[in-house]
Amino acid sequence: MAAFLTTSGTSHHIENIIMEAKAKLVLVSPYLKLSKTFFERLKGASGKGVVIKIIYGKDELKPNERNSLAELKNAELYYFQNIHAKCFFNESKMVITSMNMYKFSEKTNGEMGILIDRNNDKELFEKAMNETFSILKSSEAVLLKKQERTPYKAPANNAKNRHQKNSQRGYCIRCEARIEYNLDRPFCTDCYTTWAQFENIDYPENVCHGCGEYEATSMAKPQCYTCYVSSEAKFARQN
Ligand SMILES: [Zn+2]
Ligand SMILES: [Zn+2]
Repeated sequence: MAAFLTTSGTSHHIENIIMEAKAKLVLVSPYLKLSKTFFERLKGASGKGVVIKIIYGKDELKPNERNSLAELKNAELYYFQNIHAKCFFNESKMVITSMNMYKFSEKTNGEMGILIDRNNDKELFEKAMNETFSILKSSEAVLLKKQERTPYKAPANNAKNRHQKNSQRGYCIRCEARIEYNLDRPFCTDCYTTWAQFENIDYPENVCHGCGEYEATSMAKPQCYTCYVSSEAKFARQN
């Protein structure tokens, strides 16, 4: 018998499906935002040799998400524009739900799902699996290739540079948008507006302002260690 799942049950079982996968993992979700935790789970599965197929339908992957996926050994990414279904399965367990992949770590309610155990509901499991594979056949394979970042580099110490306005580019520490490099305001306009409602300088963010890589940052510490050292060196030369 398929089991009914609430929001937290859905998250919990999807996480289990990823962690308990032995050889294959199929994730279908229109929206594909990857939190660092979620990526770590996928990395765990990929490290065990699990083949991961991900079908998504909204092409809004951020560079960090694409790069993270490209790092996974056995991951294949497929794009299917009209996908609305959300379905997650390994060899033996499946969740069909209203929940998109990016909602996993959120505490909001309003999602439902069902858990199907292949041993108990073989026919149901296989019908859904076959439907997924027919969607997969009409999907477009997306090439996963790690893109090199252009990290912030302090300009050379010469008279010309010293008088030049700093026009280096940085990254929004919340959404990765390319913005002006400015340690006093390492957010894009939208993210800054949201941040400014609370003005918590220690609120955890995900991205280094200097190099755009995944890093635990904050308004108070907007850069990874390497970028921090590089910007301090520049500051010392200027003063
Ligand atoms: Zn932003
Ligand atoms: Zn950095």
